[in-house]
Amino acid sequence: MNEFDLAQLIAPALVWYDANKRILPWRGIRDPYRIWISEIMLQQTRVEAVKEYYARFTAACPDIAALAAIDDDALMKLWQGLGYYSRARNLKKAALVMMERYEGQMPHAYDEVASLPGIGAYTAGAICSIAYDLPVPAVDGNVLRILSRVRCDERDIIKEATKKAVRTELLAVMPMHRSGELNQAFMDIGATVCLPNGEPGCGECPWAVVCLAKKTGRISELPNRKKAKKRRIEERTIIVIRDGERVLLHKRPPKGLLAGLYEPLNIEGYKGEQETRDLVRSLGLDPLHIASLGEAKHIFSHIEWHMKGYAVRVADAADYADKDGYLLVEKQRIIEGFSIPSAYAAYMRDMR
Ligand code: SF4
Repeated sequence: MNEFDLAQLIAPALVWYDANKRILPWRGIRDPYRIWISEIMLQQTRVEAVKEYYARFTAACPDIAALAAIDDDALMKLWQGLGYYSRARNLKKAALVMMERYEGQMPHAYDEVASLPGIGAYTAGAICSIAYDLPVPAVDGNVLRILSRVRCDERDIIKEATKKAVRTELLAVMPMHRSGELNQAFMDIGATVCLPNGEPGCGECPWAVVCLAKKTGRISELPNRKKAKKRRIEERTIIVIRDGERVLLHKRPPKGLLAGLYEPLNIEGYKGEQETRDLVRSLGLDPLHIASLGEAKHIFSHIEWHMKGYAVRVADAADYADKDGYLLVEKQRIIEGFSIPSAYAAYMRDMR
């Protein structure tokens, strides 16, 4: 790494932040609980989408005690649509730890915050700097990208070793005051100026005069990241089995993809109409009518589901209630209380 002095970025970033910061519902607060919730939501979701979820979540769970006490299904329902459900499960796990060890409060020491379930170095840095003004950095992909450009740093930003090294380098120059605002300035520069795709807005950038990538014309080459692994494609057949106004749902296993969430029947491979009828019969149900629901796709981080769907009306599915993880549920109850992953949105439209 070259000898670029990171300290020279701090004052311009803070001046820029004062004039250009984004107005967000979780900005300007020092409540570590709300900062935590917003940061976890923002990890995989766009800011605009998070605003609504954040308002709904913090109204339903206004503090750590309420989050620790929430019913698992209600928690999944609150999170429905945000994806990456393990984030929600870890929120509750961490809330339970805080109830047990920290009297229902977010701890103040960085190491204690970073040891909570679902809280890594980035989130701990954001919480401790914004809520407590601790001089710790919050290094995520955005920060790695903008610093790689400004310093012409060719280290692979996908590597954990690079992230760790950048965190150490930033830690050495963090100011004793306004560390939270500095971290938020980095976040905002990454989100609104030095953009990941397309042309960065160098004309608006507080670091334009010192930026080495700009000086040397290497912006488009940076950051250096090795190609992400290709996603595995899985073909699935989704079967929505209905018995009048009731729908047969299945609870997924407690571990793995979409753990513990309810879903319609989800079968490996593409099935034709006749195969689908036979399959429904093999469950002990009597299919009366079958209709195609078309094709849909859902993208997870490492897997893509390419789906074909069918709606099957059956004579009487009552025998299946509460059996082998299956549950026969009134349509209205699905609307009100069941969290069905957005992966199935194309096939559950008329439940909403
Ligand atoms: S000058 Fe341009 S490339 Fe350099 S950090 Fe700013 S926006 Fe990014």
